[in-house]
Amino acid sequence: MIVGVLALQGDFAEHLAMLARIGVEAREVRKLSDLEGIDALIIPGGESTTIGKLMARYELDKAIRARAQHGMPIYGTCAGLILLANEIEGSQQPRLGLMDIAVVRNAFGRQIESFEADIPFKPTPEHPVRGVFIRAPIVSKVGKGVEILSEFDGKIVAVQQGNLLATAFHPELTDDERVHRYFLGIIKAQ
Ligand code: GLN
Repeated sequence: MIVGVLALQGDFAEHLAMLARIGVEAREVRKLSDLEGIDALIIPGGESTTIGKLMARYELDKAIRARAQHGMPIYGTCAGLILLANEIEGSQQPRLGLMDIAVVRNAFGRQIESFEADIPFKPTPEHPVRGVFIRAPIVSKVGKGVEILSEFDGKIVAVQQGNLLATAFHPELTDDERVHRYFLGIIKAQ
C-alpha cells in the first residue's frame, strides 16, 4: 500500500513522518504522475486558498476528484477538510468539493488561534484522541451520507463520508497515531 501526501504547501512533512512511524509506504504528490500507483491520499493542513490554487494550476484537482469518485480514500486535515467541502461559507475559493458538508474557516475566533485538546473520536470511543487546532475550521452543515465522528465544544470537528475522512484538527502534530490508523482501516476496506 502506498499513501500519497499532497505536498504543495503546508504540513505534509509531519504526515509523512507519521506514516513512516506507522510503517506505511508514503509518497509526496506534487504533480499528476505522482498520483499513479497511490492507494490513498492525505491533504495536509496549511493555507487552503494556496493549496486549492496550486492544485488547479497543476491540474491535480480534476485528477484527484476522479480518483476519489472511483473510491480512492482521502483524509484531509484542517485546510484539507476545507478543500474537501462542497461549501465554504463566504468563500468562492477553489476546492475539490467532494464531501457533502459546509465549513466555516477560522471558526474558533481570533482569541483562540491555536490550542491542543483531547478530542472524543467515535471510532475509538474508550479513548479520546489528541488534536492540535491551528486557526481551525468547523463543519457547519452535514448532508445525509455524512457521519459525524467528533464534536468538541459543541462544534463538529471530524466527519466521514464513505472513503472520505476529514478532521479540523491535526493529529500529525502529536504522537497520537489513532486517526491515521483509522484511515488505514478505511484504505484496507476498499
Ligand atoms: N486557516 C487555514 C485555512 O483556512 C487552515 C489552517 C490549518 O490548516 N491549520 O486555510
